[in-house]
Amino acid sequence: MNKGILFVLSGPSGVGKNTVLDELFKEFDGVSYSVSATTREARNGEIEGEDYFFISEDKFKEISADNGFIESALVHGHYYGTPKKFVDKKLSEGEDIILEIDTQGAKQVREKYPDAVYIFLLPPSLEELEHRLDKRGSENNKAKNIRLENARKELKEVHNYDYEVINDSLSKAVSEIKKIIIAEQKRRDQDD
Ligand code: 5GP
Repeated sequence: MNKGILFVLSGPSGVGKNTVLDELFKEFDGVSYSVSATTREARNGEIEGEDYFFISEDKFKEISADNGFIESALVHGHYYGTPKKFVDKKLSEGEDIILEIDTQGAKQVREKYPDAVYIFLLPPSLEELEHRLDKRGSENNKAKNIRLENARKELKEVHNYDYEVINDSLSKAVSEIKKIIIAEQKRRDQDD
């Protein structure tokens, strides 16, 4: 049996990665989502085990020391990591997985999973990104500025990705990502 395909979706904070994935999963079940662990506090409405596994810094370090993460990174002052067991099990069972992680994490994944498919979600412009972060309102000014500064850095990494998708229209971005996933799955099936 073929191994599953690992998809990696990155893009600056506020670009709409979660919204795009939520919409994608409403109409498409050809790929499973890997829930990350984080040391940041849950935001209003976020669900443990669905959005993230919210864990303490001590627990994070313990899992990390046990090699329990495929990759991990300090993002906007909090730790984030992709649990290894879930991803490796699904891939070995031939199931395709998508990770939503930052560019530092993607770099680590690239070393360990060279066949993964990398997709970068871009905002139409930095001004639009700032506007979206304002609208989200979950960040104070300092946190927003950290996210914008990081966004500038993240955007410089786009050339390391296989696909670029601009999120100027939600339905278009969702449909493009779906097409990328289906095309990669067809390619894998033809290589059988
Ligand atoms: P947020 O706190 O807004 O949900 O996510 C902040 C950033 O952390 C986003 O850029 C998101 O892609 C990234 N992120 C979420 N989960 C992970 C993970 O497991 N690993 C890494 N490296 N980044 C993550």
